[in-house]
Amino acid sequence: MIKNKTDFQCVVVGAGVIGLSVARSIAKKNKNVLVLEKNHKFGQETSSRNSGVVHAGIYYPKNSLKAQLCVKGNSEIYSYAQKRGIKFNKCGKLIIANNPFEEKILSKIKKNADKNGIFLKYKNYKTLKKIEPNLKCYSALYSKTSGIVDSQDLMINFIADIEKKRGKLVFNSKVDYIHEENEKIKFSINKNNFFSTRILINCSGLQSHILASKIEKLNKKLIPKITFVKGSYMKLSSRSPFKRLIYPLPTKYGLGIHSTLNIEGQTIFGPDEEIVKKINYNVIERKKTKFVKSIKKFWPAISKELITCDYSGIRTKVQKNDFVIQDHSIHNIKGLINLFGMDSPGLTSSIPIGEYIANKCMNFLK
Ligand SMILES: Cc1cc2nc3c(=O)[nH]c(=O)nc-3n(C[C@H](O)[C@H](O)[C@H](O)COP(=O)(O)OP(=O)(O)OC[C@H]3O[C@@H](n4cnc5c(N)ncnc54)[C@H](O)[C@@H]3O)c2cc1C
Repeated sequence: MIKNKTDFQCVVVGAGVIGLSVARSIAKKNKNVLVLEKNHKFGQETSSRNSGVVHAGIYYPKNSLKAQLCVKGNSEIYSYAQKRGIKFNKCGKLIIANNPFEEKILSKIKKNADKNGIFLKYKNYKTLKKIEPNLKCYSALYSKTSGIVDSQDLMINFIADIEKKRGKLVFNSKVDYIHEENEKIKFSINKNNFFSTRILINCSGLQSHILASKIEKLNKKLIPKITFVKGSYMKLSSRSPFKRLIYPLPTKYGLGIHSTLNIEGQTIFGPDEEIVKKINYNVIERKKTKFVKSIKKFWPAISKELITCDYSGIRTKVQKNDFVIQDHSIHNIKGLINLFGMDSPGLTSSIPIGEYIANKCMNFLK
């Protein structure tokens, strides 16, 4: 509970991996920071409902925020995890083609990766048979810097860094009203307590556009149209057939139903893509047919009996498919930063996103 109506320097709304990383970077710059979270615990939403993959930065257009922050985030997340004893596995990833036509798409992917400074190695059928004997494919691209990380432990470490610098986290606190007055951002928590801060950063994930729509004076035309794309996952009940992450070619809204390993070494398949209007995390048995059909393309031994329904997550897709970070240079409200469309690779990019926003805050607090 926050008892008095103290003024804050920086308030971050949302204790997901991005909000926590932003708060950590601000705290590291010795500015006082408060994180407000509506749930009773950190990371209960998208940050614990993803593939947990550390992406290399292969698919995003050169110079996009996703490309820049993901490439930087890939190396930063591994070195942070190494330093802090957070579990990770830089196991590598194969993007597979099933026929010569798909192989042409692989070469386009490789060219794009080159532009982002990522070197992908072409592997032919013979080599693949040796390294992944259970994999059915025609050829593949190998990304050696892709892997997985323990996202829960990552967030726990971000919190430790925030608290070490005397930053605070307060749970069960829903920010519901925001407006700017005399160069301060006023906001309310749980509809009755009013506070003010120099800077407020909206990192509220799936609710970012909804919270932004309640900000007085914000030109609502700047809020991007958000499409919710739900992704369900299925867990393999037998031993993992692969040592690496196996990805088909990317699809319209995602990277296709892939085979990942979680930090406990279990194999998880997913996510699929389903446009939804409301947030609902049910994973339905009926989807097994679709999953088996997709997975069969690269692992013929799959059957419905081998998989069980697991978890799901929801991506916030914006039209340009890039991270959208808006400060006063865009919306003209001093001290307000809105984040939209922070879907994949948001986990991988979390550390540089934090630094990027903290630098914006420092410029403002100067
Ligand atoms: C299916 C799926 C797979 C993915 N796979 C990967 C992957 O393999 N690798 C990768 O790098 N990225 C991946 N991502 C993306 C990654 O998970 C997200 O980018 C990241 O988790 C977003 O973090 P966040 O902090 O913005 O959001 P969240 O984790 O959703 O956190 C937002 C927080 O804000 C809180 N909140 C909302 N409204 C309010 C309010 N009004 N007041 C107070 N608190 C509020 C919420 O309760 C929540 O805790 C995936 C995403 C999905 C959906």
